[in-house]
Amino acid sequence: MIESYEKAGKIVANIREEAIKLIKDDLLILDLVEFVESEIIKAGAGIAFPCNVSLNEIAAHYTSPANDENKIATGDLVKLDLGAHIDGYIADSAITIMAPGDDLEDKFDEDTLDTNYKLIEASGAALEAAISTVRDGVGVGQIGKEVEIAIDKFGFKPIANLTGHGLDQWNLHSGISIPSVNDKSSTKLKEGDVIAIEPFVTDGVGWVGDAKGTYIYKFMQDKPFRMVQTKKVLDEIKTNYPNFHFSARWLTEKFNPNRLNSSLRQLSQAMAIYPYPALKEKANSWVAQKEHTVIVEDDGCKIITK
Ligand code: MN
Ligand code: MN
Repeated sequence: MIESYEKAGKIVANIREEAIKLIKDDLLILDLVEFVESEIIKAGAGIAFPCNVSLNEIAAHYTSPANDENKIATGDLVKLDLGAHIDGYIADSAITIMAPGDDLEDKFDEDTLDTNYKLIEASGAALEAAISTVRDGVGVGQIGKEVEIAIDKFGFKPIANLTGHGLDQWNLHSGISIPSVNDKSSTKLKEGDVIAIEPFVTDGVGWVGDAKGTYIYKFMQDKPFRMVQTKKVLDEIKTNYPNFHFSARWLTEKFNPNRLNSSLRQLSQAMAIYPYPALKEKANSWVAQKEHTVIVEDDGCKIITK
């Protein structure tokens, strides 16, 4: 089990570093997510969730729809979040990169650039503070407190309604939540727990809400449908993605995108699948995120996605 986590962790770390090198002005987001997802398969792992590439005020849950023409531009805060699994044992990691480009200094004034660099730095400092707090018996509220303190030193805010999470075999979100604020939770970590820690940092209000667009879904339960197309879409989802989040883009290999969207809406309404809309910072302020998956040990933790 530990070996599977470690293998998944190495794969995620390697692909993350390769993907970072591709991030630059004018890159299609679709090319980046397809690179990551195809490398996960090539490495002999499974895709634990669609590769997320969320820009600027979008905090999370953006992945390209089919034929996505959106591009990365110079100076964008690119949050790359990827996950792979070996036999259902998942490694989940994210990093924020400021997209390089020749026109960086023309595009942004010095203060804005400074703030954006510091957002990235703060997300790293917050993750480090959290990781150095993790050990057997520590309360998750204590981790949140340390994250909050680390971010406060930069004069920024954690996003309070986004949390890290426990991982179980075939389950990206087990019961445990790892807050980025001191939520006074009495939940304690224990040796052997596997958790993803992912502080999000912003100079806005520190809260996210739904943005326009839903690109990621998860299978919930089988339901009867009269419409043949909807039935077929649900069958496809049930067969291929019974456990993990999936991208609407993956289904467009078999289904016409427009009709697919109407089926996905129906399936969501019937709670056969659960929709995860893209998430945006409430004040439209920019957001940085950093994430590692760790295994809790007696007196610390082991980072598997380093
Ligand atoms: Mn993640
Ligand atoms: Mn995560």
